[in-house]
Amino acid sequence: MPEERYMREALELARANIQAGGRPFGAVLVYQGKVVARAVNEIHCTQDPTAHAEMQAIRQAAKALGQARLDGAQIYASGHPCPMCLAAMHLCGIERAWFAYDNDEGEPYGLSTAAVYAQMARPPQQQCLPLRPFKPSGEAGLYQQWKQASTQ
Ligand SMILES: [Zn+2]
Repeated sequence: MPEERYMREALELARANIQAGGRPFGAVLVYQGKVVARAVNEIHCTQDPTAHAEMQAIRQAAKALGQARLDGAQIYASGHPCPMCLAAMHLCGIERAWFAYDNDEGEPYGLSTAAVYAQMARPPQQQCLPLRPFKPSGEAGLYQQWKQASTQ
C-alpha cells in the first residue's frame, strides 16, 4: 500500500530532523501518483517561522513542477498540520492530507496548534490577534490596476 510507505517516509524524515537538531516534523507530497517533494521542519536552520514541513513540501513541489497549483495532490505529514499549512493546502489545491500524530499527542510537548485553531474559529473581532479593515482615505483601485496589468 503506497499510502503507508509515504507516511512511513514522512515519519523517517521527522526522526532524521530530530537528529539534525530540528523539530519532529516531516512531510511527503504526492502529485499524480509520484513523490514530488520530501521536506522537514526547517525553522531551526532558517529562522523562518513559516518553514514547517508541509509548507516546505509545497514550496519544493511547486518549484519542481514549475507551477503554483497542486490540484489533486496529497500530503503525508508526521504531525497534524497547523492552520497556516492547512490554509496553504487549500490555496494550492491539495486534495487530501494525512497525519500520523494528532494535536492531543503533541500537546504535552508544546507541539500542538489546537490553540491557534481555536483562535481562528472565533469571529475576527474576538480573536487575540484582531483583524481590522484599515484603508487610508483616498486609497482606491489597487485590484483594478492589477486586472488591467494582467490583461495587457
Ligand atoms: Zn504548519
